[in-house]
Amino acid sequence: MKAVTWHGKRDIRVEEVPDPIIKEPTDAIIKITSSGVCGSDLHLYEVMGPFLQQGDVLGHEPMGIVQEVGPEVTHIAPGDRVVVPFNISCGDCHMCELKLFAQCETTQVREHGTGAALFGYTKLYGHVPGGQAEYLRVPQAHFGPIKVPAGPPDERFVYLSDVLPTAWQAVAYADLPAGGTVAVFGLGPIGQMACRVARHLGHRVIGVDGVGARLEMARRHGVEVIDARDVRDPAEAVRELTGGRGADSVIDAVGMEAHGSPMAKLAHATTGLLPDALAAPLMRNAGVDRLAALNQGIDAVRRGGTVSVVGVYAGMADPLPMMRMFDKGVTLRMGQAHVKRWIDDLLPLVCDEADPLGVLDLATHRLPLDQAPHGYEIFQKKRDGAIKVLLVP
Ligand code: NAD
Ligand code: ZN
Ligand code: ZN
Repeated sequence: MKAVTWHGKRDIRVEEVPDPIIKEPTDAIIKITSSGVCGSDLHLYEVMGPFLQQGDVLGHEPMGIVQEVGPEVTHIAPGDRVVVPFNISCGDCHMCELKLFAQCETTQVREHGTGAALFGYTKLYGHVPGGQAEYLRVPQAHFGPIKVPAGPPDERFVYLSDVLPTAWQAVAYADLPAGGTVAVFGLGPIGQMACRVARHLGHRVIGVDGVGARLEMARRHGVEVIDARDVRDPAEAVRELTGGRGADSVIDAVGMEAHGSPMAKLAHATTGLLPDALAAPLMRNAGVDRLAALNQGIDAVRRGGTVSVVGVYAGMADPLPMMRMFDKGVTLRMGQAHVKRWIDDLLPLVCDEADPLGVLDLATHRLPLDQAPHGYEIFQKKRDGAIKVLLVP
């Protein structure tokens, strides 16, 4: 089959790899119909090289049709249409019982001290081949795959794998008071959907980014936007819009920003550091230079407020303004989305004809699998208006 494979920094290819087969009684094989490219893939594309091996298959946002199931998989059958959560969890360990599916004890990677295994996310997360491919082997398929109705286009459902539960958790963790105000830093797919979830739940939303098309999309969905290129300090701009107090909560939907993107250039320009001096090695640099959004968020939140960190960070993050955080009484919450935990909230919304979260207005590009290298490039550089790129095998 064809699959998107990693070969080096900004070097991905579409290659022939062996078809996946059932290995465990709890496995399933899915024929992929759509697969998202995610901001998390950009970390692999740019800075996580030390953890990848040549030929690793990428992708963790797949959906498709069940092809084959192992004998212990009973809730889905060949022919069913399913979305596959990006974290692989067993559904019945201690962590899964607590609904902390991203920390599943059955699949966690003890060797590296990391949480639940992930599709397409390096040896750090179990070295499981990903879903930007024609077929996918799904471990723990007796629990993971989410059955969705036949008929509506893939875009109705594909974001249940990651974007929607991640955005939903970001808002849940933001712990907003009723009718509160949230500032969302980063208006990529995750930030866009976090804005829409917060609006749907009745909150006021201020969005910050420096990419025109992304600001425009957020504005279209009722978000008050701050163009980071136009203001001296986005946190100050948030305070100005909130009576000087700051937002009740902030969502950091940026994480470590790959330096190929326009906003990263801005961040580097203001810190006066050269991108390439910061790019390697990952464990030393990843946190240090890429905390712009988190620091701004800590500044933009009101006293006693919460900063919900959904953007991915790696390496050591130093320095954080600990005195300021302590004095303001800031709560920080973070982590990977516990995908399955939020599906009961989300499924009715994506099935609703009225499309309350606007899932049909997120993908800007649907590309054949062969064009994955182009898709990654425009998504990283924020070129051609790329906001969400879907690969269609
Ligand atoms: P993306 O790269 O498309 O979006 C990031 C956005 O942040 C870009 O639009 C960029 O212009 C903007 N940005 C950069 N620096 C900024 C700054 N200082 N202030 C404001 N905006 C800034 O990626 P995405 O797909 O939306 O993902 C966003 C983050 O969420 C990534 O770090 C990704 O790894 C992470 N993520 C986490 C989870 C989870 O489970 N927690 C799941 C999926 C994605
Ligand atoms: Zn993702
Ligand atoms: Zn488990």
